[in-house]
Amino acid sequence: MLLLARYVLPMSAPYIEDGGIVIRGSDIFAVGMRAELLAAYPDEEVTDYGLAALMPGFVDLHTHLEYSVFCGVVDDLPYTRWKMEVQRLEDRLTEDDWRESAVLGSTEAIRSGITTIADVTYSGASLEAADSAGLRAVIYREVSSMDAGKVEAEVAAAFDDMRAWEARSNTARMSIGIAPHGPYTCHPRLFQAVAEAVGTNDTHVSLHLAGSRDEYDFVKYGSSPLGQDFRTQSGWGEEAWMPTGVSPVRYVYQWGVLELPNVLAVHCVHVDSDDIAILERTDVAVALCARCNAKLAMGTAPLGDFLAKGLRVGMGTDSPASNSTIDFFAEMRTGLLVQRSLLGSKDFFTAEEFLRLATIGGAKALKLDRITGSLEPGKRADIIAVDLSHSYQVPTENPYSAVVLTSNLEDVLLTMVDGKALYERGQHLSVETEPMRERFQDIRRKIRD
Ligand SMILES: [Zn+2]
Repeated sequence: MLLLARYVLPMSAPYIEDGGIVIRGSDIFAVGMRAELLAAYPDEEVTDYGLAALMPGFVDLHTHLEYSVFCGVVDDLPYTRWKMEVQRLEDRLTEDDWRESAVLGSTEAIRSGITTIADVTYSGASLEAADSAGLRAVIYREVSSMDAGKVEAEVAAAFDDMRAWEARSNTARMSIGIAPHGPYTCHPRLFQAVAEAVGTNDTHVSLHLAGSRDEYDFVKYGSSPLGQDFRTQSGWGEEAWMPTGVSPVRYVYQWGVLELPNVLAVHCVHVDSDDIAILERTDVAVALCARCNAKLAMGTAPLGDFLAKGLRVGMGTDSPASNSTIDFFAEMRTGLLVQRSLLGSKDFFTAEEFLRLATIGGAKALKLDRITGSLEPGKRADIIAVDLSHSYQVPTENPYSAVVLTSNLEDVLLTMVDGKALYERGQHLSVETEPMRERFQDIRRKIRD
């Protein structure tokens, strides 16, 4: 199979004008100039996307696909009030509802050009949804409890689930990990228990860390609505909590979880230079969730400082309950503009740098860069085509800025994982989407007051 387009953006090498990609089975076989590939591989079946960019699919470092029916249900609230409102509505959904919501999330991710997700789930709904939709995925089993007496059983149940999920997902596309939710929902003993259970294994581990100012105040000073209202609503109102006097990063560091071999910390907004030094020393990767952080008034992560220290950084769309849509283009654009707005000409980020975070950066953060994240022979064919033929894009001066600053999910022409097209020109090829519509309206009615 030979895919052609005006631009090919390998992300591991300069972009190619009038380029193409040869795919054999699930792998990329060759990347090069259109004329040379047509001459060298005359028998390949050719698809020409015209004035478009062929590039690696997006690596979405942080999703909660099962919350997809929550899109737009809890809007216009700051972080803690948003979290409590979502938590209040969660009980209204059945296991089937969560499962179908995760299927919806998978289709929306694919439509947005996402080819790899790193999803946090308690129910496991996203495992089946991502697997059957054909996505590449790391699925983290979420675990949380502020009740010291329940920690042991919760962590044991989580590892039991992980083993069962591993047995169920036998494709090479899926990996299973564990996600202790975060500092305000996990007892210190829970972090320790996870650290002990993982040990030196390269099990994927993810946690929410230093996201909101309320989390920072709760950990350091024992205050904020996360320390009172949220704990009461969660049934942890009677559990003792003393101010720790340290930042969330330093607090979690002392329980051993950051030193595990394959850790992804989500948000890292409220961090200082000492915190970043800890993340550097422990080789923790960071998921930047720019749009969620902006929407819930959480703040802005110091991206320039992360990159200056050589941290592995990528981008995540976070929960559809917090982000209004799963649109990776909007994610990159918001991230880029917020950083520029905040920093002025200091640490001036380019569209190309953000596209790198969205692809190879995310793959490195998950330690999956040997197989995905860039267009290189031998890697899996995780490829998207993005239309660049709109009037405001022609003639295209710079394909990187055209993709980041002017494109949206509607411009995705192709999403391919492992050499298999999952979405092409408006059609989902791996999931039946038509029967879903009515069902989702029913589910959404349940969570609207
Ligand atoms: Zn999250």
